Amino acid sequence: MPKMLKEVLKNLFSPPATVNYPTVVPEPVLGLRGKITWDMERCDQCQDCERVCPPGAIKVFPDEKKIEYSPFKCMYCHLCIENCMQEAIKAERVYRAPEYEKGVDIFQVEE
Ligand code: SF4
Ligand code: SF4
Repeated sequence: MPKMLKEVLKNLFSPPATVNYPTVVPEPVLGLRGKITWDMERCDQCQDCERVCPPGAIKVFPDEKKIEYSPFKCMYCHLCIENCMQEAIKAERVYRAPEYEKGVDIFQVEE
């Protein structure tokens, strides 16, 4: 009982472990699997990311130098990032904002 009382008193007088979101936005944790983006200047259209993606969230169109990415299929496994020899794919340290419609992101080389 005295051991428990010590814990109760400690928690009673320590600041809360949670933050007042969204008024206070916490710093993203290290290694956060955030929003995935492509750098099309680096991409050589090899299609490796499309081949390794388990849920089929990536479609590469080499002729159009375009990539379609479906964030709603993606499970953030990072296999695409780990297998891209050109290091053209990266995970940003921000969460993707919620969306009402299941769209795809298009990344394309600008002519
Ligand atoms: S694996 Fe990398 S270089 Fe190959 S198509 Fe995907 S993004 Fe482009
Ligand atoms: S993180 Fe995984 S599921 Fe998402 S696009 Fe890359 S390979 Fe596919």
